[in-house]
Amino acid sequence: MPDMIFFLLAGLTYVSVPCLSMERGDFVPPDSVFSAFGMERSESGWLATQLKEVRIKVDDGGIKLNDNYYRAPDSFWKDDVLYMSAEFLSFILCKVIKGYAYWDRNKKRFFVTGDDPTITSISLEDIGDSVCLTVKYAHGVHLKPQADPSSPSLLTVGVPGGFYWKAFRLEGSGPVKEVVIAHTESGLTLRIPLNEGAAGFGIQDRSDLFVVSVYKAKKLREPQQKRRKIDLIVIDAGHGGKDPGAVGHNDLQEKDITLPVALALKRKLEKELGAKVILTRNDDRFVTLGDRARIANRAGADLFISLHCNWSKNKDACGVETYFLAAARTDWERSVAAFENKAIEYEGESVDKSDTVGYILSDMIQNEYLKESQDLAAFIQEGIVATTNFENRGVKQAGFYVLRGCYMPAVLVEMGFVSNKLDAKNLQKKEVQEDIVKGIAQGIKEFIRRYER
Ligand SMILES: [Zn+2]
Repeated sequence: MPDMIFFLLAGLTYVSVPCLSMERGDFVPPDSVFSAFGMERSESGWLATQLKEVRIKVDDGGIKLNDNYYRAPDSFWKDDVLYMSAEFLSFILCKVIKGYAYWDRNKKRFFVTGDDPTITSISLEDIGDSVCLTVKYAHGVHLKPQADPSSPSLLTVGVPGGFYWKAFRLEGSGPVKEVVIAHTESGLTLRIPLNEGAAGFGIQDRSDLFVVSVYKAKKLREPQQKRRKIDLIVIDAGHGGKDPGAVGHNDLQEKDITLPVALALKRKLEKELGAKVILTRNDDRFVTLGDRARIANRAGADLFISLHCNWSKNKDACGVETYFLAAARTDWERSVAAFENKAIEYEGESVDKSDTVGYILSDMIQNEYLKESQDLAAFIQEGIVATTNFENRGVKQAGFYVLRGCYMPAVLVEMGFVSNKLDAKNLQKKEVQEDIVKGIAQGIKEFIRRYER
């Protein structure tokens, strides 16, 4: 057996033992661990005397500490040596040594510290439409989690300064396969493998805890529902409150057009389709881009329609265009999305920046609805062109933040240019607004005709 090495540095003790690194984790022989930590070998196993007297008995399946048996996940024999998960052994060590032992995944060694863990509990709970991982801090501690959605099948959350000894792995639920808790000297890492039932995630960061929510894909939420009913629609009146949106001809503000059109559209859809319609705002107030999508997701909406007005330096530019979420192909598409995304600047300090990383996964969600969003955009564009005299600028695509967070077919309508004299005049007319509403409703009806079953 190789020599054991001891270090002592800045209150940390390092203990190296032979290690086998495998895809599912690091494995070390329990006997060499107990020997390296100075336990006495007895006829029936090992004897720990640091904290109190603990009889340690190792068998193929786990470890017995006095009368308590702990099952080891994935233990195995190799060349007549029994190996167990290093994280499992650090959990065992914490129960028998002075201080806390952690396995450092990067450096492949145990480190021991006398400091109390900064995290007091980690738990996973299925709350219906999502699975929540709650991490609570010790008194007076505040940590900053950093999410890294490295791939759709693996979410990694780093917690610098986070130390927790109780669990090394949590059973999964729904879209979460499991939660693997691993340490390095600088803190804790939560590895969260996801299955295809995951539809994105968000992090809520509070002073005493943080929560990682993994959202369930709709089909996972309603496995028994074969029929598809499209009768819950979210209408999003762009901008509002301190965010006027585009300001155009005669100081016409975009937010003052989007609201009356949204209100009229709600009335029409409820009356003619019997649909339930939810507005993201029904008065002149500010709503963040993230909250607009969240309102739709929480309601489990079937469609999301965001209403906006266009703007251009070129005062001759006019007409209507409808967008779905996809990479922009032209400078114009890019500039329209950049203009609308600027609304995020009004969100100031209150923006939950950690949530923005969720967009990477969210883009994949809108991919799931790409074809349907594209069709919805086409039907709405056709409808408005048929019912109004606005110029037809066609269906377009770009990366709008407000659409990214939506787990349903979602489109953004640019109903005309506030910067164009004639469009601006028309947009303010009640009867033209009614025509736009009629056109959008026609488009939605066509979508329902094609997709409802
Ligand atoms: Zn806008």
